[in-house]
Amino acid sequence: MEQIATSAAMTAWSVSQKNEGLTIGFVPTMGFLHRGHASLMSLLRPRVDRLVVSIYVNPLQFAPNEDLDTYPRDIEGDLATCRAEGVDCVFMPPDLYPDGFSSSVSVHGLTDRLCGASRPEHFDGVTTVVSRLFGVTRCDLAVFGEKDYQQLAVIRRMTTDLALPVEIVPGALIRDDDGLALSSRNKYLSADDRARGLSLHRALFKMATAYDAGITDAEAILAAGREALTFDRLDYLELVDAVSLQPIERVERPARALVAAFFGSTRLIDNVHLGPPWT
Ligand code: AMP
Repeated sequence: MEQIATSAAMTAWSVSQKNEGLTIGFVPTMGFLHRGHASLMSLLRPRVDRLVVSIYVNPLQFAPNEDLDTYPRDIEGDLATCRAEGVDCVFMPPDLYPDGFSSSVSVHGLTDRLCGASRPEHFDGVTTVVSRLFGVTRCDLAVFGEKDYQQLAVIRRMTTDLALPVEIVPGALIRDDDGLALSSRNKYLSADDRARGLSLHRALFKMATAYDAGITDAEAILAAGREALTFDRLDYLELVDAVSLQPIERVERPARALVAAFFGSTRLIDNVHLGPPWT
């Protein structure tokens, strides 16, 4: 498995693979890898000739009061995970942006609501880093987890709008045995916060159950969720159209229930599909 630390070396590696006619799949991550990340690697592995994983904690997507400096790291563990998943190349740049870097990529509309309302600079940081990583890795396919459902929608919009030559592949949300959505940030949770954090999953499950029982009115479904939800501070609980992410009054098309809440000082997010399946 190759380990590459500079953008120039990464691009040179990718170009040499592509000159051989090989396809490149890409899994961008911030490291501290868990089974959720591994599932994205194994989803892409059979679809591409070469699989690249990046490990980069992107400063652009953290606000000054967020956890950039304390974001958990475990490089040895991450490399072991990548090896086990058959990754060909791990890109781990200490710095990703060139001297004088002065560009940014913004997706409007989709980024104003949900996580974007409380983290106003976050998605510009994500779209900017993903654009640069697409350029550096020259990937043909890239996978993004449904765990960060709004992020997936924003990246899809950006890729379509800018005609980027990358196929975006969605990866299912992977949960721990108790139902908590796997996240690198779960490490911050005390045992008590973690137990209370399970209410996110319970609330979403209640909403899905209400829909399955024949309720399509969004307010009634949201009420079922609110009843099961406990938190220290709620950011949002919403029921939205699965594509536009706009609130809906009735579930008639594919929809998504999304929640974000604080437990202690840790902010957790979770989401679930509701409504007819995607065609
Ligand atoms: P991160 O390292 O948190 O930036 O995440 C890197 C990628 O892994 C993103 O596409 C996430 O959506 C995805 N991911 C994180 N947690 C999970 C999970 N529990 N299930 C599926 N994908 C995940």
